[in-house]
Amino acid sequence: MRQKFVAGNWKMNLTLPEAQALTSEIVHMLHDELLSPAAPQVVICPPFPLLSAVGHLIGDSGNPALGAQNFHQKESGAYTGEVSAKMLHSVGCQYVILGHSERRQHFREDDELLSQKLKTALAAGLRPIFCVGESLETREADETFAFIGKQLKDGLFHLSNEEFEKVVIAYEPIWAIGTGKTASSQQAQEVHAFIREQIAGAYDAQAAANTSILYGGSANAQNARELFGQPDVDGGLIGGASLKSRDFVEIIKSF
Ligand code: PEP
Repeated sequence: MRQKFVAGNWKMNLTLPEAQALTSEIVHMLHDELLSPAAPQVVICPPFPLLSAVGHLIGDSGNPALGAQNFHQKESGAYTGEVSAKMLHSVGCQYVILGHSERRQHFREDDELLSQKLKTALAAGLRPIFCVGESLETREADETFAFIGKQLKDGLFHLSNEEFEKVVIAYEPIWAIGTGKTASSQQAQEVHAFIREQIAGAYDAQAAANTSILYGGSANAQNARELFGQPDVDGGLIGGASLKSRDFVEIIKSF
């Protein structure tokens, strides 16, 4: 059976004391619940300077796990100001978000760069949370499936079967990110089912059945249960609501 996930993307928010307070609250509220085999895998993705402190507070049980939001595609070298995948792994990260629409848009990350980053992440032992999703214009032009199909083909499906097994996919419609507009559970389900079909075509039915596909875009404690109840929705990538301990914990308990 495929793994359920709730990943929190803190983006460029929180200072060290704020991050420590939020993490302690989350850990305290969840007690031992995450140790149950039925619990979703929780991943917390703070900004770089907060990784070690958050990692220290979540401990080494494996759930929650630590994730990062970005890294440089090269292994190491003269890239002032950049952070490598190996560094992230060495401070306890197990996951990294890749292809987030904010990085595609503000930092011009394209499919070619993402393909390189995927290889670097996997070589360093990080599991990518690979994001895809359409703009409002694309949806309104009825091109959502073609657009997402291309993002998957050009960005992701070059991986070998063995590499692909490590990937978690997040469907994040751009028009729903940080806007308070959530995709309906039906809209989410139809895109998730489409993504699974594409995986079956590129790899095989087993890979399609085993891949966790998360929904992201204004998911919150009120709508999580319905979204997570869809057959092809295996959890969420949560932005704004992951910054509030009670909301984040409620989302985790929505399964
Ligand atoms: C995100 O940016 O990954 C995200 C899903 O944000 P939000 O939940 O705030 O829409």
